[in-house]
Amino acid sequence: MKGALIGCGFFAQNQLHAWRDIEGAEIVALCDRDEQRLVQSATDFNIARTYFDAEAMFKDAGFDFVDIATTAPSHRTLVEMAARAGVHIICQKPFAENLDDARAMVSAAAEAQRTMMVHENFRWQSPIRAALSIVRSGRIGTPFFGRFSFRSGYDVFTGQPYLAEGKRFIIEDLGIHILDIARAFLGNAERITATTKRINPKIRGEDVATMLLSHIAGATSVVDCSYATRRMPETFPQTLLEIDGTEGTLRLDAGYRLTVQSDGEDVQDVSPPVLPWAEKPWHNIQESVLTIQQHFTDCIAAGREPETSGSDNLQTLALVEAAYLSAAEGRTVTLDEL
Ligand code: NAD
Repeated sequence: MKGALIGCGFFAQNQLHAWRDIEGAEIVALCDRDEQRLVQSATDFNIARTYFDAEAMFKDAGFDFVDIATTAPSHRTLVEMAARAGVHIICQKPFAENLDDARAMVSAAAEAQRTMMVHENFRWQSPIRAALSIVRSGRIGTPFFGRFSFRSGYDVFTGQPYLAEGKRFIIEDLGIHILDIARAFLGNAERITATTKRINPKIRGEDVATMLLSHIAGATSVVDCSYATRRMPETFPQTLLEIDGTEGTLRLDAGYRLTVQSDGEDVQDVSPPVLPWAEKPWHNIQESVLTIQQHFTDCIAAGREPETSGSDNLQTLALVEAAYLSAAEGRTVTLDEL
């Protein structure tokens, strides 16, 4: 398959590196409104076709899928453009700025009969996959409690200055990943209660969020996120897990140490590999980019719905919206309300 990528910014560099290693796909065209970024990426990745305007790129055609790596405000326009052009779509998180837009985007791809996947990559990190396969195998029985925790003091604002400027920050940018991981382990949720706080005075949005979820299948989980936690060792960008099941427990601790206790104890080092183009501490995220892009490519080839499809992601996005509503109104929010 041939692909085009829109948005040659900070994170797209990982996506471009990963596409070079994907079996069955290559990027043949690039688009960015910023000339310097466009030219730099085209040179670095040896891509001949370049565009400032996405509409012009779709008009010229010659590709089967588009990878949308811009920030959320442009996603709906670009997804609808791609659906009209009849190409498959992979779009970065946050998928949309609100649920109405997200629903319209899912419908547009469905009407065009094209695969639509959200680049929701945290559940594709290999340490998370290792834990997921143990829980899904039934080794700890039926999970009844989960804690999904991401606490860090890492400076994310230098690489992504827009994160300091938005009215919303941690739930929309990072919490969305951790809520998605909670769904991957415990299924969809029906209720959420959240509190938020801003500790860093230099940013506009919240940098701490604590959320309590009731899952439809019966489990309860705590999803806690912070970019105001100064601790050693710094665990960025690790998500720590604690799952209690009817037959045992699983923990993913700092340093990618996975412990399963059920009929004895089993401790494994599930550190992700450092890919040749990756660098620590981002290697965990970088490897998941390769995995998710391969999943997208394989699903299109097999005519399968991706695990993190657009319609699946509506549930994750609904949790984000519900968490903000809960924090603003100081009450538990049921997802049916949205
Ligand atoms: P960025 O601002 O560095 O890059 C975005 C690029 O898109 C810019 O170069 C901009 O000029 C271009 N752009 C915007 N609208 C455009 C349009 N309509 N047509 C053409 N070009 C356009 O942003 P970033 O930090 O790379 O983030 C991009 C997305 O990736 C965000 O949605 C962010 O949340 C997401 N992200 C995901 C992860 C992850 O692990 N999945 C990590 C970091 C960022």
